[in-house]
Amino acid sequence: MWRRVALLSPMISSSSRSLPLNQAALGVKVGESFATDVNNPDERTLSPKEKAPFITFVLGGPGSGKGTQCEKIVETFGLQHLSAGDLLRREIALKNKNGAMILNLIKDGKIVPSEVTVKLIQKELESSDSCKFLIDGFPRTEENRVAFERIVGADPDVVLFFDCPEEEMVKRVLNRNQGRIDDNITTMKKRLKIFNALNRPVIDYYKNKGKLYTINAIGSVDDIFQHVLPIFNSFEQLKVSRHVNPKSPLGSILVENSS
Ligand code: UDP
Ligand code: MG
Repeated sequence: MWRRVALLSPMISSSSRSLPLNQAALGVKVGESFATDVNNPDERTLSPKEKAPFITFVLGGPGSGKGTQCEKIVETFGLQHLSAGDLLRREIALKNKNGAMILNLIKDGKIVPSEVTVKLIQKELESSDSCKFLIDGFPRTEENRVAFERIVGADPDVVLFFDCPEEEMVKRVLNRNQGRIDDNITTMKKRLKIFNALNRPVIDYYKNKGKLYTINAIGSVDDIFQHVLPIFNSFEQLKVSRHVNPKSPLGSILVENSS
C-alpha cells in the first residue's frame, strides 16, 4: 500500500508535518491514502485543497527587502504571497472593523493584536486555491507565532530571514516613496526597536528548530535573489526526481508504507 506524505527538504526537520494541521479550517486532507494509480502517479488529479499547505514565513527588519524578494519568488516558483502588512493596510483602506485601531498602531510602529492579524491570514489561506504560501512580515512576535499555531494549526516548512544592517534599512525605507504613513524616520526608529526586541526571538526560535535560512540582504535585488533560489530549488528538484504529479505544487511524494 502507498500512502501520501508531505515532501520535506532534508535541510528541515520533519516535525512541522507531524503537527496537527487544522485540516478542516484549511480544507486539507493530510495523510490521505491513495490505493490506486500507484504505477502512474501522473494520472492522479488532486485539487490543491487536498494537499498539506507548504508555508514559508518571510522575516526581516523594515526595509530588508522581504516584499521585493517575495515578488521574485512568486514569479519563479508560483507561491502565493500574503503580506501581513498589506492585509492590515487593506483593513484600514476599507474602513473595516478594527481599521482605526490598526492605523494607530502602524503609525506608531507597534504590533497589531495577534488575533486580528492571524484571522486575516487565515481567511486568505482558506479562500485560496493555492497550497503553497509566502507569509511576509509575520510572525513579528512570539505571541504572533503561538497564535498562528493555535488558530491555523500549522507550522512553517521554511523560514527566510533577510539579514540587513540598520543603516541600509533606514536608507531604503526613507527612499521608497510608497506613500506609507510609517515610512518616516520617527516611526522607523520605533519599528527597528520593536524588530530587535520582539522579532529577534522568533528568528532564534526557528533557528533552533533548524528551519531558518538567513540571507545576506545587501546587494542588488538579483544578487540577493541568487541566495534565495537554491533554497526553493531544493524542493523543486526533489519533486522532479521523485516523479511527483507535475500538477502538484511543492506538495507531496509517494512512499512505500512499510506497515
Ligand atoms: N504589522 C503588524 N503585524 C504584522 C505585520 C505588520 O502589526 O504581522 C504592522 C506593524 O505596525 C508594522 C507595519 O504593520 O510596523 C508594517 O508592516 P510591513 O510588514 O508592511 O512593513 P515592512 O517590514 O515590510 O516595512
Ligand atoms: Mg513589506
